[in-house]
Amino acid sequence: MQLDFNGKKALVRVDFNVPLDKDFHITDDTRIRAAIPTIKHILSHGGAAILMSHLGRPLKKLKEDGSIDREKFTLRHVVPHLSELLGVQARFCDETVGEKATKMAAALKPGEVLLLENTRFDAGESKGDEALARQMAALGDVYVNDAFGSAHREHSSTATVAKFFGKDAKAFGFLMEAEIKNATRVLHNPERPLTAIIGGAKVSDKILLLERLIDSVNNLIIGGGMAYTFLKAQGGQVGRSLVEEDRLELALQLIDKAKSKGVNLLLPEDSVIADDFSNTAQFRSADSKEIPDGWMGLDIGEKARKAFSEVVLNSSTILWNGPMGVFEMPNFANGTKMIAETVAQATSKGAFSLVGGGDSVAAVNQMGLADKVSYVSTGGGAMLEFLEGKELPGIKAVG
Ligand code: AMP
Repeated sequence: MQLDFNGKKALVRVDFNVPLDKDFHITDDTRIRAAIPTIKHILSHGGAAILMSHLGRPLKKLKEDGSIDREKFTLRHVVPHLSELLGVQARFCDETVGEKATKMAAALKPGEVLLLENTRFDAGESKGDEALARQMAALGDVYVNDAFGSAHREHSSTATVAKFFGKDAKAFGFLMEAEIKNATRVLHNPERPLTAIIGGAKVSDKILLLERLIDSVNNLIIGGGMAYTFLKAQGGQVGRSLVEEDRLELALQLIDKAKSKGVNLLLPEDSVIADDFSNTAQFRSADSKEIPDGWMGLDIGEKARKAFSEVVLNSSTILWNGPMGVFEMPNFANGTKMIAETVAQATSKGAFSLVGGGDSVAAVNQMGLADKVSYVSTGGGAMLEFLEGKELPGIKAVG
């Protein structure tokens, strides 16, 4: 961060969109923690920080009478924990922009922190409204975007607001810098062999990612529910496994493309199959292309685990996005666990590993392996779009 913060008020877009329980206690503070270094840097360099963020989707989840559920979606919920992590009592303004926000921002002294109300209480936010962005911009002398998780949104607080700051008055925060640096390392000039492990439910969610990766990876491992569309396209019998019938042709094209590019494409040779989508279902192992009627593949099998881990352990750069099975159910979590352990092991031997995308991040965190991989991305959708090669509005606006 090259900005001079001395005596300045920095308007900082953070991503405090944290999960809360029914009593509004934070159940996972990863996103708040991730923004702390940037805020502390501003404060210790003579600046004051005015923080803005969204929390949930208040306009999509209105109360029965059609009004905003302010009690549920207020960012006030995060003030105590934020203050504790910062070691500074943060002030809170119950509006995002307006007279009160302007007054409180103006009164802020160096070393102080002000958190503004949920940006999504204003309908203009998600439309990228200019008038709203101008009001936001007027609160600060400089703008810092540290909300990687929202960088794929062209909203007032993530993108439009940056227009109102000159080139020397805006910058990325440390989190944003790290996310961009690590994803770029995987996308451009990675140390080879480069292996991507892609899992999760649907091929349709990851078409662009798969296409983009086939152009650059040495090994492409496909697991999770999406593998069965590929296996069926190859003529396999996959029973009741998750299959997207309208993507069978596409799956064959991707297989062909991988072949013509010399990419080593791995699908799970065997699966853990179950007679119901439930942790209490009967389960056993089977060849992934000979799944009996009425049964479904819910995890990768023993042979697949061995084959996948051999490739992962021989990789110098690893990208992992998406679980290998229905890891939320303990009986079908072993494939995902094994991949997490293997990625950690490869990292300890010197590989660079990036885990990006909601559910694989959850798996790594659950297993306590987050600090055993090189980098865990905080941005699910944003990371996916970045890896697909898209230009993210939040990055473009500042960069
Ligand atoms: P995604 O959000 O696309 O990364 O998908 C994650 C979801 O895929 C998780 O909720 C998993 O339970 C689900 N999933 C993974 N493997 C399977 C499978 N074999 N069958 C059905 N769902 C799966």
